[in-house]
Amino acid sequence: MSTTDASAGTEPLSSTDTVELFQKYVVPNYVRYPVNLVRGEGSKIWDAEGKEYLDLFPGWGCNLLGHCPDMVVAAVQDQVAKLIHVPNTWHMDVQGQWAKMLSDRSFGGKAFFCNSGAEANEAAIKLARLHTPHEKYKIITFLGGFHGRTYGAVTATAQPKYHQHIGPMMAGFSYAPHGDLEAVRDLVDEHTCAIMIEPIQGEGGVKLPPEGFLEGLRKIADENNLLLIFDEVQTGCGRTGEWFGYQHFGVQPDIMTLAKSLCGGVAGGALMTTSEIADSLKPGMHAATFGGNPLAARAGIAAIEQIERDGLLEKAKQASEIFRERLTALKQECDLIREVRIVGMMIGLELSVDGAPAVKACLEKQLLINCTQGRVIRLLPAMNITEEEIHHGCDILSEVLKNLPATAE
Ligand SMILES: *Cc1c(COP(=O)(O)O)cnc(C)c1O
Repeated sequence: MSTTDASAGTEPLSSTDTVELFQKYVVPNYVRYPVNLVRGEGSKIWDAEGKEYLDLFPGWGCNLLGHCPDMVVAAVQDQVAKLIHVPNTWHMDVQGQWAKMLSDRSFGGKAFFCNSGAEANEAAIKLARLHTPHEKYKIITFLGGFHGRTYGAVTATAQPKYHQHIGPMMAGFSYAPHGDLEAVRDLVDEHTCAIMIEPIQGEGGVKLPPEGFLEGLRKIADENNLLLIFDEVQTGCGRTGEWFGYQHFGVQPDIMTLAKSLCGGVAGGALMTTSEIADSLKPGMHAATFGGNPLAARAGIAAIEQIERDGLLEKAKQASEIFRERLTALKQECDLIREVRIVGMMIGLELSVDGAPAVKACLEKQLLINCTQGRVIRLLPAMNITEEEIHHGCDILSEVLKNLPATAE
């Protein structure tokens, strides 16, 4: 009997057998833990051997409502038996309703739907070029930013490590140091069409904009007829305790991109823009075959409804304060922590040493966390994490960080 084929979808394979399949058949472009995860609920996840983990980085930021949120599960289960996919040559009530819900909670514009963050950013780049006069095509982005892996998005990503050996990169991008308004002003010329930025850099290490920076960018954009694009793929959809990151800063973008937690863990992406700018995408100019499909739409609607039913924006703010208390207290006791940065359910602990050993030590203690930029421990917890889970996670993290060998230079 071929156990591999016979067991697909029923009894899980052991972690060892799963790793073997990957070694033979899956492209090795990710560093993966040698663990087969099979089930999740809220902030907990279980592997094939029945081991339980506390997940402070659920779904790499996609599972903002935790694993298998009940309303998303129910909506998808209901929709999957009715209509899975129809092309965008038809109307679908659920896509329209989803667009309205996103519009009502943001700046009242229109939505274009796609399937991922990179894809949403590609649409934003194209729209910025289409909406502005023909001679304008240049986009200013920021060092340390992250916008995805497709060619436009990765060119917008001003980090040399992501450009190595894949050039030539797309023409028309220039990079400013994060926080430097003067540098942005110097980069603007008659060909510039847009400024693109994450309101809070995520992969870049949970980096907040300096006071007045986003306002300054809005002003530069307005003075030079540029579009201001906010990549809210990570900060959007409730992550920061507001619906969208820009709402913390009182600066409204012209275009906003969403993905990651948009559909409560189901794949989905979107671009939001004003009605006026939206008119620059005419039939035939852009498309995504799966974009806004009924399954994603139902999941996206359910994610919003669950956040509202459970008061999760408020809960995220409360959870955030508990993390802040615990982690600032830990910083007092642990010299390796340089800075604690927290906005809602977006948490960065900048260390003076490499964070990879801490991630590994936490995994051994059944706690899932992330490290970005080498030295920043990043947590993107679920908004419905319990107080007990926060303390349990912080207990483990404290123990691990306090026992980390201090090899800082
Ligand atoms: C993850 C991320 C992306 C890329 O999203 P994909 O769905 O992986 O294409 C883009 N921008 C930001 C800010 C992100 O965090």
